[in-house]
Amino acid sequence: MRTTRPRLRRFSALAATALTASLVLAACGDDDGGDDSGSGDEATAEASDFPDGSTMAELADAGEITVGTKFDQPLFGLVGPDGTPVGFDVEIAKIIATELGISEDNINWVETVSANREPFIQDGQVDIVVATYTINDERKELVDFAGPYFIAGQTIMVLEDNSDINGPDDLAGRRVCSVEGSTPAENIRTNYPEAELFPTGAYSDCLEPLRNGQVDAVTTDNVILSGFVDQNPGEFKLVGDPFTEEPYGIGLEHGNTEFRNWINDVLEAAYEDGRWAEAWEATAGAVLDTPEPPQVDRY
Ligand code: GLU
Repeated sequence: MRTTRPRLRRFSALAATALTASLVLAACGDDDGGDDSGSGDEATAEASDFPDGSTMAELADAGEITVGTKFDQPLFGLVGPDGTPVGFDVEIAKIIATELGISEDNINWVETVSANREPFIQDGQVDIVVATYTINDERKELVDFAGPYFIAGQTIMVLEDNSDINGPDDLAGRRVCSVEGSTPAENIRTNYPEAELFPTGAYSDCLEPLRNGQVDAVTTDNVILSGFVDQNPGEFKLVGDPFTEEPYGIGLEHGNTEFRNWINDVLEAAYEDGRWAEAWEATAGAVLDTPEPPQVDRY
């Protein structure tokens, strides 16, 4: 951790001043023993560590960041009794904040649901979104994505005693709950038109309809559904294998390549030094095996 983090900051600053590649390489080869005297999770960065005028400098200077995340999804983003969300997405946001010198007390958490993530970023209501947010080309026209930091896949959840539905082809003629503005809902509309989509605003709104028989199944990413299965013992189960790939990215302002590159640097450093795995194990890892971190896609 101590060797990776100062190098990361130095690299960001140099990249932005558009020095030649050789200078950047020479600087990166410098002694890394540097200035990081704190323990791993302390917020030690300052605005002067970042290029003037960059989003990183602005956020570091403000000393706070506004993060959009889910409030109703166990394992990834679930609001606790104190009003603060917990989960893997929340931990990823904290890693980013820490690298900006912002402590977790100074993160403003805003609930985002599937349909309002792009508008919240576009309107500047949030600085970043970390919310089980699939990177795809359509969304890339509106927002930028750092990452991926995890790869999920769409699957299906039914009542524990259901034996009729075992995969997406069994959804024909059945009512399936998913969330408006999500990729799984879109996938059902486009590729499984014989299924009857029951759209809601958030995944937790699908649970009661599943319990009372208003719908036959719920579909979204496997890891979101696993959280609901875990939280409601004996009630629900997942069926079939994942049938899509959902690479989770950190959504940010469209065209802010400097900020995107910097977040990608932060992710790679956290993959390398174990903070990513630690974040997983402290949250989703209670229920799911620890995966390998995915390759960041610097598109
Ligand atoms: N990952 C999918 C998406 O971004 C489904 C989960 C969600 O709606 O947050 O649409």
